[in-house]
Amino acid sequence: MNQVHGDEVFEVTSLTQDPTCDALITKEPGIALAVMIADCIPLLLISDGVVGAVHVGRRGLVNAIALKTIDAMRKIGAGTIQAQLGPSICGRCYEVPEALADEVCLSHPNARALTSSGTSSLDLPKALIADLVAAGVSYEASSICTLENEQYFSYRRHNITGRNAGVVWL
Ligand SMILES: [Zn+2]
Repeated sequence: MNQVHGDEVFEVTSLTQDPTCDALITKEPGIALAVMIADCIPLLLISDGVVGAVHVGRRGLVNAIALKTIDAMRKIGAGTIQAQLGPSICGRCYEVPEALADEVCLSHPNARALTSSGTSSLDLPKALIADLVAAGVSYEASSICTLENEQYFSYRRHNITGRNAGVVWL
């Protein structure tokens, strides 16, 4: 998908599609969905007959892209959904201006965090997990921080960088 930090969810039915969106879902066995990130959260959603791959950054969290994807999966038949959060930048590293933190915390108060040096930051995985739990979705979350672990691409560490991929299929 062409990711744009928006809130569109796209259902993939064939391999020829090239959607602009931040969440893919499919019921088709054998079609692998991929999300590409370098500090944002690669969120994979798994159920019996439907899977989803979601790009969750700061704007995606505020846009509720994960919750919209869960709704869309349920509309096409997903039962119990499990979530996997891949490596992303952690709350000790994701420094943001205080005003930006305030803005995000209006909708997600538990995103508020401090960096290791005591400045304002955001803990996106923590806030996303709270949304998932409220939506009745169980989860497993990686504890790896993309900025701290050099085996992963990190936009904050190198402005010009590759992307990590999260991939899911039925
Ligand atoms: Zn970190």
